[in-house]
Amino acid sequence: MCDVHYDYWGLAADFLRHLALDFFDPQFAMGGGGTVLAVNPIYEHHEDVPVRLEALKELVTGKTPGAILITEPQRGSDAVHQLTTCDEQDDGSFILNGVKIYNTNAPKSKWLVAYATAEKNNGNTMAQFLIDSNWDGIHMERVNIPWIPKLHLGKETFTNLKVPKDYVLGGVGKGREHLFEGLVPERIAIAIMGLSQCWGALTHAIIYANNRKQFDQMILRFQGVGFLLADLWARTTNVTLGLLKFCESFDEKYIKFNGEIPKNISQAMVASASQFKYHAAKLTKKVCYECANNMGGAGLCDNTLMHDYLNISRIQEIVGGSRQIQQYIMSMSLRQLYKMSVS
Ligand SMILES: Cc1cc2nc3c(=O)[nH]c(=O)nc-3n(C[C@H](O)[C@H](O)[C@H](O)COP(=O)(O)OP(=O)(O)OC[C@H]3O[C@@H](n4cnc5c(N)ncnc54)[C@H](O)[C@@H]3O)c2cc1C
Repeated sequence: MCDVHYDYWGLAADFLRHLALDFFDPQFAMGGGGTVLAVNPIYEHHEDVPVRLEALKELVTGKTPGAILITEPQRGSDAVHQLTTCDEQDDGSFILNGVKIYNTNAPKSKWLVAYATAEKNNGNTMAQFLIDSNWDGIHMERVNIPWIPKLHLGKETFTNLKVPKDYVLGGVGKGREHLFEGLVPERIAIAIMGLSQCWGALTHAIIYANNRKQFDQMILRFQGVGFLLADLWARTTNVTLGLLKFCESFDEKYIKFNGEIPKNISQAMVASASQFKYHAAKLTKKVCYECANNMGGAGLCDNTLMHDYLNISRIQEIVGGSRQIQQYIMSMSLRQLYKMSVS
C-alpha cells in the first residue's frame, strides 16, 4: 500500500538503510539517492493533486526511477542564475525552453523534477515543475560518466515543452525556495553515501589484511598496512558518529516541529550539512584509495567491489555542490556568526 501519510522513519534510519544497501552495490545505492531527490519535492508540494500523487506512488514503489534537473551546460555551481526559461500561459500552464545536463537517472526515469526561470539569470523568478519524460518537446541524451558506468545521466533539451498547470510544483518566485529546501537533505545524503563507501572499502581491506600473507606474516602485522588501516578506521568512525548525531538531532526537531523546522534552526543546519558533505567527500576519496592500495593488485581487480568504491568515491566532491562551493558556504557562515556575535 502507498500512503503519503506514512510514519516518519527519519534520517538516522535512512543512514542505516543506505549503509546496508551500499555494501551490495554503491552505484545502485546512488541511483536510489537520485530518485529520492525527485520524491522529496513532490512529497512536499503535492497539494493532493492526483497527477502528483500518482507520480509519487510510481516513484516510491519503484515503478520508475526519478531525476532532479538543476544543472545546465552553462550553469553548474551557479545554480540560481538559470538560462532555461518558463513562460506562463493564460491557462496556468508553462512553456519551457532550454538545456539541462548531468541529471542522475534521467534517461531511465518517467518523472523529472526541473527548475526554470521566467527571466534568464534572475533567481527571484525561478519555478519548479514535475515533468513526464514521455511528453513531446523533450530530447533526451545520455551523458556517460565512466566512473559510474551502471548509472545513466541525462542531457535534456526542452523545445517548447508544455507543462500543464497541475504539474507546476512551485510557480514563478517559488523555485529558489524549493531548490534550497532540498539542499540540506541532499548534502547529508551525499555525506551518508561517502561514509558508506568508506565502510565498504575498509571492510574489504581489513578482511584482506587479516588473510593475506607476505614474508610469512599476515600483512596487517606490518605497520605500513595495520597502522594505516587503523588511522582510516578511526577517521571513518569519528565522522560516522558525528553524522549519526546530526541525523538524530534532525529527526528530533522534525518530530518536535511537526515537519516544519523553524527557519533559524534550518539555517544553522545549512552550515552543518556543508561541513559533513565536504568532510565525507574528502574522506571517502582518501579511504577508498588507500584501502585499495593496501590490497595490492587484488584491490584493483574487478572481482570485488573495490574498483566500484575507488571510482564512485572520486565523484563525491563534485555532486551536490563542489568542494570549493561547500568551502564558500562555510566561510559565509563564519561571516554570519561573526555578525551575529557583534550585533
Ligand atoms: C555523477 C554526477 C551526478 C550528478 N547528478 C546531478 C543531478 O542529479 N541533478 C543535477 O541537476 N545535477 C547533477 N550533477 C551536476 C553537479 O551538481 C555539477 O556538476 C556541479 O554542481 C558542478 O557544476 P559544473 O560541473 O558545471 O562545474 P562548474 O560549476 O563549472 O565548476 C568548475 C570548477 O570551478 C569551481 N568553481 C565554480 N564556482 C566557484 C566559486 N564561486 N568559487 C570557487 N570555485 C568555484 C568548482 O568548484 C569546480 O572545481 C551531477 C554531476 C555528476 C558529475
